[in-house]
Amino acid sequence: MRKPIISMKGVKMWFPIRRGFISKTVGHVKAVDGIDLEILEGETLGLVGESGCGKTTLGRTIIGLETATSGTVHFRDQQISGLSTAGMRPYRSSIQLIFQDPYSALNARMTVLDIISEGLIYHGLIKESAEADVRYWLQEVGLDPNSLHRYPHEFSGGQRQRICIARAISVKPKFIICDEAVSALDVSVQAQVINLLQELADKHDLSYLFISHDLSVVQHISDRIAVMYLGKIVELGPTESIIKNPQHPYTKALISAIPIPGVEQDERTILEGEVPSPSNPPSGCSFHTRCPLAQDKCKTDTPALETKDGRDVSCHFV
Ligand code: SF4
Repeated sequence: MRKPIISMKGVKMWFPIRRGFISKTVGHVKAVDGIDLEILEGETLGLVGESGCGKTTLGRTIIGLETATSGTVHFRDQQISGLSTAGMRPYRSSIQLIFQDPYSALNARMTVLDIISEGLIYHGLIKESAEADVRYWLQEVGLDPNSLHRYPHEFSGGQRQRICIARAISVKPKFIICDEAVSALDVSVQAQVINLLQELADKHDLSYLFISHDLSVVQHISDRIAVMYLGKIVELGPTESIIKNPQHPYTKALISAIPIPGVEQDERTILEGEVPSPSNPPSGCSFHTRCPLAQDKCKTDTPALETKDGRDVSCHFV
């Protein structure tokens, strides 16, 4: 049985809303609101939900770019939440982040050689720019190893994201957070980058948290899918069963929005309105303002995330 590589318990990330001359706290933006989640060794967990659901904040909290308001994050057996910058340093190479925008993620004034060498030097893997190492990693991500003296603007969007991937995997991580890593790319390039990520995961024994607003992308790479709404996980399960037999009304609505080969979609659930503000989430089930099945109980009672038949769902009526 695979062990967890990342374990989150009761993780909350609330940002204070301050007002007035003395910056009095008058409320909180509850971006992440009590997440219990494990990501297993060698697993790709897809995290999906609309913009503003807290997915990116959860990724940033795992990697320590945000300090959790409460709860704990473990990397294998080691608690990494609450560590200082120096305390986090031994884990920095093991946990990497690939951003959405390969244009702004790369320093336009640095060559590919310097961009990839920088991480290797920072983590003590090499002493100075090492052409042989960088050539190897460029080849690993399907780029011409002779392009190491070129600058980011000389590459296409997909190639730049490959440089970002090379920079991340060159420091030998075990866990990578891909935050909307293919969202800025053309559809045909998205498929190539997803295939590359899968090949690298197999070859280098990686686990991923693959964050995306696009379920049609997430389903191609994920072993399991977690669906997030207003800071909470509302459904979690194996990819195939989530796609073919969604239980939570929000998951059903997300799946209704995409054509899925081999899946009957006669009854579509149309999602209306916007995600409510996380500074003032609806009472009870936070999805009740948009849910086609909502009843009075949903306005007052918060459903727990309950496990049934290998699936976790938070809905009073599932
Ligand atoms: Fe909809 Fe009620 Fe279920 Fe929430 S608890 S998803 S509002 S039916």
